Amino acid sequence: METRVRCAVLALVFVLLCLSGCSGADRKQTDEFYGMGTLVTVTLYGEGRAAEDGFARVRALVAELEGLWSLNVETSDIARLNRSDGGIPDADERTVALLEKAQALCAATDGNFDVTLASLSALWQNCGDENRLPTDGEIADRLARVGTGRLELSGTAVGKPEGVTVDLGAIAKGEAVSLLIRLLDGTEGLTGGLVSMGSSIAVFGGKPDGKPFRVSVRDPKDGTKTVGTLTLLPGEVLSVSGDYERFVTIDGEPYHHILDPRTGYPSASGLSSVAVIAEDGATADALSTAFMVMGEKKTTDFRQSGAYAFEALLIRTDGTLAGTAGMPALE
Ligand code: FAD
Ligand code: MG
Repeated sequence: METRVRCAVLALVFVLLCLSGCSGADRKQTDEFYGMGTLVTVTLYGEGRAAEDGFARVRALVAELEGLWSLNVETSDIARLNRSDGGIPDADERTVALLEKAQALCAATDGNFDVTLASLSALWQNCGDENRLPTDGEIADRLARVGTGRLELSGTAVGKPEGVTVDLGAIAKGEAVSLLIRLLDGTEGLTGGLVSMGSSIAVFGGKPDGKPFRVSVRDPKDGTKTVGTLTLLPGEVLSVSGDYERFVTIDGEPYHHILDPRTGYPSASGLSSVAVIAEDGATADALSTAFMVMGEKKTTDFRQSGAYAFEALLIRTDGTLAGTAGMPALE
């Protein structure tokens, strides 16, 4: 893997798809819309009306998942759970399945990935609005409410201690991309395509010209530049987390949105961005966030532990790169 790239901080991914050789039966069609607070891009190859059908199915499933997992939808499983005293009895099975994955990932990453940081995230948002740093007491109060392992999952019931609240922002888009690819892969008439939800992207099938899907990685400090492209294979999900994407500004200083559950402050591990490729989207999404907190050494140790199968590209704050052995090379 190339070891030095100037200003190489990963951002959202661009996708380069062939513009030629895509006519006739397998023509390329693209749909874009906003869902889960991000731009959703769907590119499909297929016959007849298959792509239109695929787009409609994608929009419907994204709306459904947003209705289950959004903090901003009052009736969502997560909003109801957060409002409740002790939990809810009737969560959707997809919510329970995702929370089970979140619990396993929290335990495996020694608590560095934790979906119960919602009240801490809200504190930092409020402090940004008020242009002040949180007090030590406020941080301690919010950290006392953290602990994905304290959620109790049983059938469709999700139980929680009072004060614990959930935010699936670091895992739900990855899960959604996996569910969408599975849906499209089983749609008659579609021969291949791609789904991107901002920081998570996956492909299925193939392109009519037989060439692989290529994903370009953008330099977020200059959105007109890319730092390289890599091949993404069917069955893989690529997720990217970074300290540049969302942040609040306090006294002129940016405080980014990935929080260290130990300190209560934004992660400061020496990494500016992390890209993870894994078979499961939730895993790729969660690990890209966790590694931002864990830093290079702990990430390398985690890889060697074999707890999860993945490849990672780490972008240090000085712009240099490190990567696991099997991470596809940037070109
Ligand atoms: P990631 O690195 O994947 O995740 C970071 C996010 O996870 C943080 O924003 C925080 O919420 C949480 N987090 C921070 N630290 C940790 C940690 N150590 N462990 C676990 N989690 C952590 N945004 C809007 O502006 N408007 C919307 O209407 C909106 N709706 C949404 C609906 C849904 C269903 C979802 C899942 C998200 C929604 N979002 C919305 C949020 C947005 O799309 C992103 O999910 C979010 O901003 C962070 O995603 P990311 O990929 O940039 O970062
Ligand atoms: Mg994530």
